[in-house]
Amino acid sequence: MAETPITIPAELLPVDGRFCCGPSKVRPQAVEALSAVSSSFLGTSHRQKTVKNQVARFRQGLADFFGLPEGYEVIIGNGGTTAFWEVAAFSLIKDRAQFATFGEFGAKFAKAVKDAPFLGAPTVHKGEPGSAAFLTAEAGVDAYGITQNETSTGVAVPVQRVAGADQGALILHDATSAAGGLDVDLTQSDVYYFAPQKCFASDGGLWIAILSPAAIARAEEIKAGGRYIPAFLDLVTAIENSRLEQTLNTPALATVFLAAEQTDWMNAQGGLSWAAQRTAESAEILYRWAEKSPVATPFVTDPGLRSNVVATIDFAEGVDAAAIAKTLRANGLVDTEPYRKLGRNQLRVALYPAIDPSDVQALTASIDYVIEQL
Ligand SMILES: *Cc1c(COP(=O)(O)O)cnc(C)c1O
Repeated sequence: MAETPITIPAELLPVDGRFCCGPSKVRPQAVEALSAVSSSFLGTSHRQKTVKNQVARFRQGLADFFGLPEGYEVIIGNGGTTAFWEVAAFSLIKDRAQFATFGEFGAKFAKAVKDAPFLGAPTVHKGEPGSAAFLTAEAGVDAYGITQNETSTGVAVPVQRVAGADQGALILHDATSAAGGLDVDLTQSDVYYFAPQKCFASDGGLWIAILSPAAIARAEEIKAGGRYIPAFLDLVTAIENSRLEQTLNTPALATVFLAAEQTDWMNAQGGLSWAAQRTAESAEILYRWAEKSPVATPFVTDPGLRSNVVATIDFAEGVDAAAIAKTLRANGLVDTEPYRKLGRNQLRVALYPAIDPSDVQALTASIDYVIEQL
């Protein structure tokens, strides 16, 4: 690093310097709305109308946003996506699963299932970081799992059923960082699950799963079959509570409220098609900049796999990405460091709908300035 600290000129800086992939930028307007209900909503019972109305607002907002197909239901529970992986292991997989993994998050779900002593050994198709892996029809597999957007690497794949899969096999999509920012046709998924601290610009701690009728029936069938299921991980219990606009145990009220605010805001802007178009615009700005830059290149070499919600940019030898990230941070542009375990000379940038494309533009100008000065 240079001896003297680098100050990025104010006119180059983004209005908001938060580019974290999760927890992600929360819109100040949402926080103001929360502040306005601070004494009427925060600190009140989650079994009463005031809170149940916010849960209902969030669930209905999601149903509108995704154009919920007939018979599908929006279910929520506590514990975030990591808890939902265990919910899925206990309540959705009968015996054998197949996974396509191409990064840390996909691998974690596969491991949770591998470690479950009551399930058969899963098949895992593994892709190298920066590429993808895909699901293939396999006899005897009753649940397929894939990540729509691998947040650790910035690879996104379409949401699609597996052609030729066994009758009744479910497909589960980890959409934690994709949901809300990437297009999806929910009829192509049985379990589209996510958490609100990414595109839904809220805080962590909740999981949301949009379930097809087949997924709901599967959870009921497994429970009726007598498998031991911890109450906290019991999807049928979560379904029953969600239908009453509640959760089994106490949810984070601020998280619910902020997520409902973001959902309503995105619906007011034009819903999922608007959101997907906005992240595409941000992605176009960032990838085009990287392709033109003499020292930056998109990490994901196949343009068809490049994510519109999480961009990863590699830097040439001799340009220290860690020093860039550190300098950006000192100037208020935070969390552009790469995923910690990936270990590359890279920056990673969230492009979620709450982030203004003009701020992404300003980020590229700021990075250029820092590189010049380093
Ligand atoms: C962030 C993330 C997770 C983990 O979510 P938690 O709510 O922190 O458990 C899982 N999968 C993907 C794809 C993610 O981006």
